[in-house]
Amino acid sequence: MSRKVPKHIYLTEDQMPKQWYNLRADMKEAHDPYIHPGKMVPVELDDLTPVFCTELAKQEADNTTRYFDIPEGVQDFYKIFRPSPVIRAYELEKALNTPAKIYYKFEGNNTSGSHKLNSAAAQVYYAKEQGLTSLTTETGAGQWGTALSMACAFYDMPLTVFMVKISSEQKPYRKAIIETFGAHLIPSPSNTTQIGRKILEDHPGTGGSLGCAISEAIEKAVTTPGCRYVLGSVLNQVLLHQSIIGLEAKMQLEMVDEYPDIIIGCAGGGSNLGGIMAPFMQDKLAGTKNPYFIAVEPASCPSMTRGKYAYDFCDTGHVTPLAKMYTLGADFIPSANHAGGLRYHGMSPMISKLYHDGYLDEARAIEQSKVFEAAKFFAKHETILPAPESAHAIRVAIDEAIKCREEGTAKTILFNLTGTGYFDMQAYLDYNAGKMTDYIPTDADLAVGFAGLPKIPGIQE
Ligand SMILES: *Cc1c(COP(=O)(O)O)cnc(C)c1O
Repeated sequence: MSRKVPKHIYLTEDQMPKQWYNLRADMKEAHDPYIHPGKMVPVELDDLTPVFCTELAKQEADNTTRYFDIPEGVQDFYKIFRPSPVIRAYELEKALNTPAKIYYKFEGNNTSGSHKLNSAAAQVYYAKEQGLTSLTTETGAGQWGTALSMACAFYDMPLTVFMVKISSEQKPYRKAIIETFGAHLIPSPSNTTQIGRKILEDHPGTGGSLGCAISEAIEKAVTTPGCRYVLGSVLNQVLLHQSIIGLEAKMQLEMVDEYPDIIIGCAGGGSNLGGIMAPFMQDKLAGTKNPYFIAVEPASCPSMTRGKYAYDFCDTGHVTPLAKMYTLGADFIPSANHAGGLRYHGMSPMISKLYHDGYLDEARAIEQSKVFEAAKFFAKHETILPAPESAHAIRVAIDEAIKCREEGTAKTILFNLTGTGYFDMQAYLDYNAGKMTDYIPTDADLAVGFAGLPKIPGIQE
């Protein structure tokens, strides 16, 4: 059978976008401003620059510039692993016997195994341009630490990664790869920072947490000359860099005369979803097209489906600015879940605003056994072993395709396959052994997190 659309839709190097798209320039209303955690008033650029690289702080605050040139030095790095393909899931469609057309953008084709390299490249490039001499960050599941260590190796930038201690013990291969790319990895909490020493004193034997690792990384950045802190999701700058995913995907679908009816992304901090949806949301905001957007999150960490839209801290250490977002509360500790990249209490302020205002149509929470069932089915038919995070989007793509079969409609579905799951083999072992559990927090569990939401005089009482 000859097919009108090829299995892989490629762009040439010359066709790779030369600008990122800033969706904020087309939003009807900006998201509520970040609030300074000490002064409790909206942050100024000067508040951000001691912690963040100056160019990135400018991008963070810019709600009006529609397109940003991708520096040539970043384009050169992108060309090592981009443009990434859009793949028509013919075999998955066949297996589901669905009239739906399913496409996925594959961002796992680089050593870090995820889309996070798109922003890591940009952030390290700007740090180097500024003349900074080192960077710090935290990593939980390890994907961000890996991507950043790759970018730092490429641009010759020393990096310290505070990795949640329990993760560094459970995922020794992540540590191996981060160190192979030359970064200095410190299990957190550590005795290298004041806050780390305090936590170790108060909780000897703790396995650490993302919030604690963030606090250590920030302390190290602000106490080391020429050092700044970088973050892999949630922030506007990260969504800006990730827009390359959507810009490419839109061109690729245009090449085969397609436009998606449904666009699906998994949602941890919101960066890949923000990236894939950006140019399609532009159409929706302009009223020229009306795609249906779905964010998919784990049922164990349901910030959009069960969270509150409120000002909250971005970290458990309460040192980062407060953002108005869907949140479970910075003190909420999600139960162990194999999609480590989705275990975040909050959500990007941009994604939160679009969801609150009804432009992002739907958020759906899925139990992890259903996620792994979809991952295994997808692996069998499309032969890519997905990251557990990505498999959240696969689950919903499959469910929507089945709905099309039942309704007899031939919708076009696009989802983002953010990465591969080679570092998540313990999760697959557990699933295959029938040992996977689905812990869903009770309303009482969530109430504990909500009780810790901050009070801000005149803004949030
Ligand atoms: C980090 C990660 C995610 C979730 O992060 P977002 O910022 O929400 O995109 C999804 N998939 C993979 C493979 C990841 O590493």
